[in-house]
Amino acid sequence: MRGFVLLGAALLLASPASAQRADQLSRQVRQYVSVAEPVVALTNALVIDGTGAAPKSAQTIILRDGRIAAVGPSATTAIPAGARTIDLAGHTVIPGIVGVHNHLFYTAPGGRRVAATNTSTRLYLASGVTTIRTTGSNAPYQDINAKAAIDRGEAPGPRVHITTPYFTGEGGGYMAEIHTPEQARRFVNYWGDEGATWLKAYTTIRGDELKVIIEEAHKRGMKVTGHICSVSFREAVAMGIDNLEHGLPTASDFAPGKAKDDCPANILATATSATNANPGVDAWTGTIKAMVDNKVPMTSTLAIYELIFPGRPPVQDPRALEAMAPEVREAYLAQRKMIDENPNPVLTVPMLKNAMAFEKAFADAGGLLAAGVDPTGIGGALPGYGDQRNYELLLEAGFTPVQVVQIMTLNGAKVLGVEKDLGSIEVGKIADLAVVRGNLTTEPIAIRNTTHVFKDGVGYDPAPIIASVKGRVGIN
Ligand SMILES: [Zn+2]
Repeated sequence: MRGFVLLGAALLLASPASAQRADQLSRQVRQYVSVAEPVVALTNALVIDGTGAAPKSAQTIILRDGRIAAVGPSATTAIPAGARTIDLAGHTVIPGIVGVHNHLFYTAPGGRRVAATNTSTRLYLASGVTTIRTTGSNAPYQDINAKAAIDRGEAPGPRVHITTPYFTGEGGGYMAEIHTPEQARRFVNYWGDEGATWLKAYTTIRGDELKVIIEEAHKRGMKVTGHICSVSFREAVAMGIDNLEHGLPTASDFAPGKAKDDCPANILATATSATNANPGVDAWTGTIKAMVDNKVPMTSTLAIYELIFPGRPPVQDPRALEAMAPEVREAYLAQRKMIDENPNPVLTVPMLKNAMAFEKAFADAGGLLAAGVDPTGIGGALPGYGDQRNYELLLEAGFTPVQVVQIMTLNGAKVLGVEKDLGSIEVGKIADLAVVRGNLTTEPIAIRNTTHVFKDGVGYDPAPIIASVKGRVGIN
């Protein structure tokens, strides 16, 4: 038994450092593989490598046994004998996207909340998202089992960093309510033993319990992030939290007169209003400074927030509507119509712009900004497609294409602590790549045209993966 246990531990440690070869994948996964050769030469591509370096055109990337073996100008980079060569003229290659707020469940109007491991794992991979953190679970064992199936090569999907079920204070619903320090310790250790590496705090958790959770998590190498409210960003930073989700729309630092351990009503409208949130107020500079000084990263989730503002997005993503189950599509479009036609909206687009400006100011001040889709809310930000929408929204927030790619790739890898292996196109790193048709620096919408997704150097064809879940989003 002891030998068995050790073997299990070794396998766990081996991921993600050991490559998953195409011939180790099940037939079920291999049907989506378009590039199975161990040595691959991607030629004539525009490369945005994720490090923040300027884009380079006419590049060749050599993949060997799941790693990046060479990157350089196509004119001078030798193609190894026997390599499968793919001419990527007219395409852009970026690192595989690292989504750090990427649930494996899905919600839609009318009270729908479903475990969505089938559709979401596939849509993530097909959209170029090769690593995710689940950042709060609705069906934890389904998440854990989905990750295990992907890691064994039995199901297609991204690398998965498991987060615990949400924990909160009063009004838990499907979340764990944590009311005592003893319970806090028990919660951390139970889920740590089950394989979770992150914990997710939710809005009504009180300071005393959050503090215990963070301390207990750190003792065993787990990390804590939060969509918090009763505890402000600055209070959580002082407690040692490892990441903060959503940015301005959830920062109760911006609610004037907030009482300790109280989550003010309508925090979203309060925190994003021009009066409370502008670079002139103390909360703006103070919150950013606290996070930057203590190296606490922030997760941008603009794709999900955008949807509750009138007229956003200007054009519905037709791929998302096609992927939804018919009744989900109907419920979503009805909700959109209500938002768009509301004569007295509480939320207005300038408030969304304030949230964007806060993210830009945070990054400009040296903060580590990463991104994720958060496929919840009114159901319009789908796994993968919403991550791609983040690309367009972060450009709107004022970042350059190079910066946005970095936010969506290397920065996410840094949040997860996997940047030695993942997050950029550099020699020696794992060959996780997204290939899109078009020039991403001049045509943002090219981010949606994924033609190949490489994970561990194995190339997947997005089209049949997407076809396999058509009409299934909102079901499983
Ligand atoms: Zn979320």
